[in-house]
Amino acid sequence: MENKNVKQLLVWGLSFLFIVMVFQNLKAPPIEKEIPYSEFKAKVRSGEVTQVRVRPDLIRGEYKDPGGQARKFKTLPMPDLKLVEDLELSKVPLFQGDPDRSWVTSLLVNLGWIGLFFLLWWILVVRQVQVGGKQAMSFGRSRAKMVDDKKTKKTTFADVAGCDESKEELQEVVEFLKSPERFQKLGGKMPRGVLLFGAPGTGKTLLARAVAGEAGVPFFMASASEFVEMFVGVGASRVRDLFDQAKKAAPAVIFVDELDAVGRHRFAGIGGGHDEREQTLNQLLIELDGFEQNQGIILIAATNRPDVIDPALLRPGRFDRQIFIPLPHLKGREDILRVHARIVKMGPDGDLALIARRTAGFSGADLANVINESALLAARRNKEAVGLPDLEESIERIMAGPQKRSNLMSDAEKKVVAYHECGHALVAKLLPHTDPVHKVSIVSRGHALGYTLQLPKEDKYLTTRTELANRLAVLLGGRSAEDMVFAEVTSGSSDDLAKATSFATKMVVELGMSERIGPISLKKPDQEVFLGRDISQKGGYSERTAEIIDEEVKRIVDEAAAKARELLHKNAKILEELAAKLFEREVLSGEDIDAIVQGAVA
Ligand code: ADP
Ligand code: MG
Ligand code: ZN
Repeated sequence: MENKNVKQLLVWGLSFLFIVMVFQNLKAPPIEKEIPYSEFKAKVRSGEVTQVRVRPDLIRGEYKDPGGQARKFKTLPMPDLKLVEDLELSKVPLFQGDPDRSWVTSLLVNLGWIGLFFLLWWILVVRQVQVGGKQAMSFGRSRAKMVDDKKTKKTTFADVAGCDESKEELQEVVEFLKSPERFQKLGGKMPRGVLLFGAPGTGKTLLARAVAGEAGVPFFMASASEFVEMFVGVGASRVRDLFDQAKKAAPAVIFVDELDAVGRHRFAGIGGGHDEREQTLNQLLIELDGFEQNQGIILIAATNRPDVIDPALLRPGRFDRQIFIPLPHLKGREDILRVHARIVKMGPDGDLALIARRTAGFSGADLANVINESALLAARRNKEAVGLPDLEESIERIMAGPQKRSNLMSDAEKKVVAYHECGHALVAKLLPHTDPVHKVSIVSRGHALGYTLQLPKEDKYLTTRTELANRLAVLLGGRSAEDMVFAEVTSGSSDDLAKATSFATKMVVELGMSERIGPISLKKPDQEVFLGRDISQKGGYSERTAEIIDEEVKRIVDEAAAKARELLHKNAKILEELAAKLFEREVLSGEDIDAIVQGAVA
């Protein structure tokens, strides 16, 4: 964005300079003094004039001033039949006629201006469109791509996994697109707009495309952010054009991605918002309202910010159908993995059910990435098929960035990290209601020096206070172990502390898990700061409440830290053994940890 602004400024600056230069050249020919005709005649008679060139619209020439210096002059001619006579009489050495070139010059000047305009227009508009998109069709035309699925591969619901409910809701839209007349006859009212919302990568684009694929109708796709990038007035005309194209191809699906780019609350923010966005949004509303029931066009839009969508868009007859696309559940993740594993060669140990268990919180796009990465890894390792190690490594890569091959940690640092991670692992092991520890590692990944990987047995939707408190203790176990063993803490706990604090705050503010606050939600609405809104919506809580919140958060975190410390003190010998083993092997599996803990207890 910033880059683009700079470029635009540069273009404008240069063209301004250019215009100024052109002006100067036109307006400042050689220093000719313009004199009245009477003065010219007087000079002719007094014999000062040495040269005259006569054009129907202008007389130019030279005279000698009293000092004897040659000066150029020009004057506008008058009907003067005696001019030549006078010139001869005064013995002007040189006089001649010039062709009338005035119309040629004016034509050239005009052409120059027109050319200049086109040049500017080309640089500013056409070039931009070409840079931004694949190919500019023409000024103001929509860059909507009609995706011809017949040429590529038709996308169907079979390509989308893990969101069966959303698919069911969209099935109705598919039926409508297949035979709009049938719905018409029954008097059924179809939604004109369907809004898909959900986290990035959950498959919104894919679903929209699958709707078109299932119904066998053309799919027009445009991103709302492209509309508003344009110059004023272009966004609206692009919307119009997009709908015109689709209407010609109806029945059809129009897909507008990133709807929040145009569909934010109007009149919000400083200065009343973005003009271009507003025009574009208005045009979109006009198009939506102008839909005839039998036109067979469905507008599907996607956003991951439904909270900022202008309410006008959500009124009946507009985006009146809203479908939430969730992150996939355990079973859904396995299905998505299977969908993407169809095109890679899986070895017998490519256990996708296990991989699904290990990828809680991954989106469909993340899972597609896991499969893709693992195929690349297997290829790099010259393997015949993708196996479990490839899958596991690609999960970890996606979680925490690519593995650092060179281990730059000193032994002393490694030791601290080993105690830290074992602190997490041991607290997790000893406390009930915590997720089983799957792996502990001190091989750095991304910016994390080490990590403890806990895996839930199943997806959980409800968490008790005890579970949360135990989770906090696990988070603080790393720092407690450092403190206990080295009587010193390091900067390595910052992520843990940030997480713990936000957990504890959530417990107090949102989950009603603090007696002093009670079962009250003090959560602030998660919104961008719109100036207008902030002023109009007083919210939040008193300063006294804020103080209590702070105290409660601190109490909860302190209690969790104390619990972790106590557990580690009681089991210092096990911690010792675990850390030594981890230091030696750099990675311990869940079973390794179990063996050490049980061996020590026995
Ligand atoms: P969104 O539009 O919600 O950000 P996309 O539809 O662009 O997500 O998803 C990106 C890619 O991730 C898809 O092309 C597909 O390969 C994969 N993907 C996402 N969700 C799913 C799903 N539910 N089933 C199969 N693949 C998915
Ligand atoms: Mg998308
Ligand atoms: Zn930690």
